Amino acid sequence: MNLTDPRTFIKPVILLLVLAALTFVTSLRGETDTKPFEQTPVWASGKLYAILWMQNSAEYQAVARQAYAAAAYQLDKALADTSTTALDETTGNSALKKPAVILDVDETVLRNTPYGAWTIRNQKSWDQQDWWEWCRLEAAEPVPGVVDYIQTAMAKGVHIIYLTNRSDKVAVATRNNLASEGLIPDPEKVTFYFKEDEERLGGKYHETNKIFRRKQVEKEYRVIQMFGDSLGDFAGNGHLSVMDRRALVNHNQSRWGRSWFMLPNPEYGSWKESLKDYQHLDQAESFSKEMQALQPMK
Ligand SMILES: [Mg+2]
Repeated sequence: MNLTDPRTFIKPVILLLVLAALTFVTSLRGETDTKPFEQTPVWASGKLYAILWMQNSAEYQAVARQAYAAAAYQLDKALADTSTTALDETTGNSALKKPAVILDVDETVLRNTPYGAWTIRNQKSWDQQDWWEWCRLEAAEPVPGVVDYIQTAMAKGVHIIYLTNRSDKVAVATRNNLASEGLIPDPEKVTFYFKEDEERLGGKYHETNKIFRRKQVEKEYRVIQMFGDSLGDFAGNGHLSVMDRRALVNHNQSRWGRSWFMLPNPEYGSWKESLKDYQHLDQAESFSKEMQALQPMK
């Protein structure tokens, strides 16, 4: 064997390359053929693109800023017109009440996409303990535009109400996180309602229901604007179907962009749960429901 002649190595190298290619193809085929659907990578669920969009796109930033800028622009008018409120649950003479705004927290005020991104990188599903751990890091950044809006509203004498489905188990962390981002400029002028408050006030908690907490706010305040990333942050009581959710939006068409402001959240929420009638389905069943919900060209 002549070790200085490159031709000596050509045949073994080609053989090795062919073997490597065959092994790769075989392993891919094996994976496709034998891997049950339940093990399909999390990126297949679409969560990857939702989070990429929310974390990286200029368009996400623009949509969020658009909502808060439009709201700030209309604050003076909303304060002056004491006859109207943003709440369905309005009773009594609202003109005599102090003005307030209601904001949901997650994906409306604070951005939790780092938690979602972590679940993708680590091939994990949503988990209560992991979620609380993320909340306790107090590391969520504000949604674009919200800090300016809160500071403007508060300077105009508007009370701020954070009405969240976060548990009171993470109440301290949530307050700290918001405060560190300039979202509690004056603690005296901010009120919190957590998940447990819904039942404390006589309601029945489920993820789409904030109605009893809104009723409680209404007793004391004239709510002039509301913000959320899910329809339940504004109205509705219970698990509404896809069609009923859309009908509710249309029914309230005069409110959007005036007193109701929706923030985008393609990652999760009741929009996604409504596709599977709010059932707890495994990944294969969920995927099947999502495919059925597509409306392809004929
Ligand atoms: Mg939310």
